[in-house]
Amino acid sequence: MDYPRARARMVDEQLRARGIRDARVLQAFTEIPRHIFVPAGLEARAYADMPLPIGDGQTISQPFIVAAMVESLKLEGDERVLEIGTGSGYMTAILARLCNRVYSVERLQKHVQDARYRLEQVLSLSNVILRAGDGSNGWPSEAPFGAILVSAASPIVPPPLVEQLGRGGRLILPLGNEKEQRLTMVQRVENGSTGHEDLGGCRFVKLIGEHGWKT
Ligand code: SAH
Repeated sequence: MDYPRARARMVDEQLRARGIRDARVLQAFTEIPRHIFVPAGLEARAYADMPLPIGDGQTISQPFIVAAMVESLKLEGDERVLEIGTGSGYMTAILARLCNRVYSVERLQKHVQDARYRLEQVLSLSNVILRAGDGSNGWPSEAPFGAILVSAASPIVPPPLVEQLGRGGRLILPLGNEKEQRLTMVQRVENGSTGHEDLGGCRFVKLIGEHGWKT
């Protein structure tokens, strides 16, 4: 399989054609190999327009949704970004190309191990810090963050995440019930207050933790 070619088509047909415009975002998707983030045997579908299973009932998100979320953060390159739900590590790799440093928290130890191997050993990314734990509590010792991205759905905006957002920072998360959610942008404006913006419907696996779902 010609992976670079499949990737270039993915960028053209799934991202550019659907309105992803940020040149740095498109470049990151052109460079990061998605096939190393899917389970063995699914490589041929890595560039298809769909989410894929990564084990334990979890999924690697569809390329377009990853791009839409990342683009909405409007990263400039100097930010420290917190990601909740590392999963396969694909979104982490994309973020690593677009900001200064990514702090990523994942509940399942096995995913942390697999993602660490891919990000550190295979891709040699040196600006990614991974930790196993409940990301609904954020990462207090490293706060504040320029942006926070949650790739699991929550019934509420976890209060610790808003607290750990720097002034002018953007938090994006899927908000809703188990079946359907709205991709929601929470922005912390200069005077410390927050505003919400609806970016459309989506469907993610559950954020399980103290400030998400209990089970
Ligand atoms: N962006 C990921 C998609 C991950 S799916 C990718 O590109 O592969 C959502 C992930 O969130 C799952 O791996 C799940 O285990 C994790 N998760 C669920 N609740 C969590 C929590 N409270 N803290 C950290 N990770 C959590």
